[in-house]
Amino acid sequence: MKFYINVMINPTLKVLDYDKRKFLESCMSVKGYSAEVERYRSVLLTGVDDRNNKQVLTLKGWNARIAQHEMDHLDGKLYIDHMDPSTFHCTCWEQNIRYLCTTFTKSKSFRQWYRDLWIPDHPCQPPYWHFTQIGDPILRTKASNVPEEAIKEPEIADFVDQMIKMLRKYNCVGIAAPQIGISLQRKTNLFMIRIGNEFGVGVGCDREKVMQ
Ligand SMILES: [Zn+2]
Repeated sequence: MKFYINVMINPTLKVLDYDKRKFLESCMSVKGYSAEVERYRSVLLTGVDDRNNKQVLTLKGWNARIAQHEMDHLDGKLYIDHMDPSTFHCTCWEQNIRYLCTTFTKSKSFRQWYRDLWIPDHPCQPPYWHFTQIGDPILRTKASNVPEEAIKEPEIADFVDQMIKMLRKYNCVGIAAPQIGISLQRKTNLFMIRIGNEFGVGVGCDREKVMQ
C-alpha cells in the first residue's frame, strides 16, 4: 500500500455512508488513553493543499476514521465526546507506574521532583513541538478558515512543515492545527492526514478489515 501525507486546509467533510463502525481510537492530545468510538464508514473530504490546489479524497474504513477524528479537532471536539465510556482505559498505566517509581532521585526534594514532573522550567510559545493536552482551551476552540490570500504565505508553509515533522516524529496518523497550539496565534483550519499503511502490513490490514 502506498504511503503519503495529505495536507488539508479549510477542509469540509461529507458523509458518504451513514453506516457506522466501532473501533478503538486514541489521540496524542489525550495521551495514554484509548476508547472505542463509532465513526461513519465512508466520507468525502475536500479542501486545498498548501499550494492552494483543490484536494478531493474519498475515504473508507480506517482512513475515514482518521479524517473524522481530525475534523473534530477543528471543531473543538475530541474523541472522548463520542466514545463508549465503558471502553475508556489507560493504555500505559504499567509504564507510568514504572516511570514514577524510577525517576525520583534523592538529590532533589520530593516537592521539587513533583513540581518538575508537571511544570516545565521554560514554558514555550506556540507553535509547539509537543502535542497540546486535554485541559488546554485551544483543544475546545473552533478553528476558522485560513483566508484564501494567506494560504501560500510563508507562515502557513512553516506551520505545515512543522506539523509534518511532528506527524513523523511521533509516528501518528493525523494531526490538526490546535494540537500544536496554532490557533492561539491565528485561527487556522488546517490538518494533515497520513494515508496508507502506517503501521506495517499486518496491523494496517487488520485495521482495514475491522473497519470495512
Ligand atoms: Zn486527536
